[in-house]
Amino acid sequence: MLNDLEKEFDNLPKEEKAKAVEQILDRFIKHSDDAEKTQLMMNVMPKMMGNEMSMMKIMCQQMMAPQIGNAKTSNTHGSNSCCSDKNESMFSTVEIKNIFDDWVLQVQEEINNLRTENKGISKEELAQKIKISVESLEYFIKDDIANENLTSSDFEVIKIEKINNICPMCEDYAKEQTKKPVVIMSCEGACLRGEISRRAANHICHDLIPAKTVRLCLGGAFTKDGGQRNLVKNAERVIALEGCFIKCASRMIKGVVPDAEPEVIITDKLFTFDTNIFGINEMTKEEIHDNSLEVAKKIVEQL
Ligand code: SF4
Repeated sequence: MLNDLEKEFDNLPKEEKAKAVEQILDRFIKHSDDAEKTQLMMNVMPKMMGNEMSMMKIMCQQMMAPQIGNAKTSNTHGSNSCCSDKNESMFSTVEIKNIFDDWVLQVQEEINNLRTENKGISKEELAQKIKISVESLEYFIKDDIANENLTSSDFEVIKIEKINNICPMCEDYAKEQTKKPVVIMSCEGACLRGEISRRAANHICHDLIPAKTVRLCLGGAFTKDGGQRNLVKNAERVIALEGCFIKCASRMIKGVVPDAEPEVIITDKLFTFDTNIFGINEMTKEEIHDNSLEVAKKIVEQL
């Protein structure tokens, strides 16, 4: 009997197919309780929001588009409900809209639980577990992104291989230096600007005011959750010397210590040179030394 019905359905023109589905859905809604309706949505939605550009996915994208970036979107179904008045017309009845909203909330809850249980889970892994596309997942976590006033396109997600090895000298150094109030990091760039920045940081911490400052190993702090990273977490003041406006040091450290608020100093503004040059081989060793010392002294005046 089901086969006959299926054949009959397949032979219907497009408009009649849609009408038939709508009628079946209306009948189902009329004779089902809330739990049954929600269960239906739970079963059907993942299939419709999968890897292919399904009708539901297009519909969701249309609904989501005006709300992306609007952190304060709210209605009776909660802050992340995607069914604003503007979009109500996309549902044949208010009841279907409400079921859809309930389903959205359930998926959100599932995502939140998975994110709590799997700290640092990537968007791709999360989408796979929920069985929706990454694009759809971004809708569900958009409030988290909006709370930081940033959109997903403002970030690049990277994976850093963990290492169990410990450098005892580095850990001892971090412990010994932990009482110093000012942490100094530098971008460590290999170009002339990075070299001047790096050397200026060394002058500050090792020659000019060593009692007050600790020189951070940025690579260690960025790639390993150990003593170097703790220096940043516990410091009274964190200063990031940046060779140029790309600001690698502060952006790197904020990636692993999101609460850090380093004071940024762009060092190529603190000495005079031919700004067209790039490499350390384009300036004499003596000039590099003098310029980095000049930069260091100017920074010390501010500390
Ligand atoms: S801040 Fe500029 S100089 Fe320093 S590493 Fe980044 S790009 Fe290189």
